[in-house]
Amino acid sequence: MAKRRVSYGKCFFCEQAFAKNAITRHLQSCPALQEFIANESGKSAQLFHLLVEGRYEPEYWLHIEIPASSTLVDLDDFLRSIWLECCGHLSQFTIDDIFYSSHPDPDDPMSAFFGQEEKSMKAKLYSILDVGDTFVHEYDFGTTTELKLKVISERKGVPLKHGVRILARNYAPVYPCVECGKPAKWFYVYEYPFEGYCDEHAEEHDEFEEGFLPVVNSPRSGECGYDGPLDDSLEFEETYSKQ
Ligand SMILES: [Zn+2]
Ligand SMILES: [Zn+2]
Ligand SMILES: [Zn+2]
Repeated sequence: MAKRRVSYGKCFFCEQAFAKNAITRHLQSCPALQEFIANESGKSAQLFHLLVEGRYEPEYWLHIEIPASSTLVDLDDFLRSIWLECCGHLSQFTIDDIFYSSHPDPDDPMSAFFGQEEKSMKAKLYSILDVGDTFVHEYDFGTTTELKLKVISERKGVPLKHGVRILARNYAPVYPCVECGKPAKWFYVYEYPFEGYCDEHAEEHDEFEEGFLPVVNSPRSGECGYDGPLDDSLEFEETYSKQ
């Protein structure tokens, strides 16, 4: 089995690189973030700090801050926008063994099988989550992307206008082109695991029209028709370089 490399990411406040296992602690003491918090002005609210990561691809991760009064719909919207959305698939959170679905169906045979109804995502975060809780999000029940989430901490502070503030995020993993070893820009998705290709070698491939998807810094890269965030401001393709 391949040895997992240490995953590095960027603190969006001091712009420094940190290993994944060090950045949670860093965010609790980052001088730039502390200064930002000290200078906040506006109406304050309870905020949750969440860690979001690929359940099976933990090299993709986000630290975010979201008002505790947000609903699961708001959180689902954000996850779709930054990492997941391709063609409007269903999604679901599982929290304390309860399913919260984007399209709840009380007659769903699976929920009957598990003896529980699916709830809607209208629930507010503070009513179902506490600091320390972990939970799961699934997008698309065909080619599923599973995320693991954890409530790291909470604070009183001023929420971002549009809800979710990104505190830190993983640098884009680099995959080599199978032909030349240069950083891949494309995945050939008819092989599994996907094969990386640079622009030149992807364009030369017989199946370039149908068999390739762009490499994107998301745990959904290469799946279904995924080709990047819904909003350009959520793109982040910087790669790690030793500082
Ligand atoms: Zn920092
Ligand atoms: Zn799709
Ligand atoms: Zn190449």
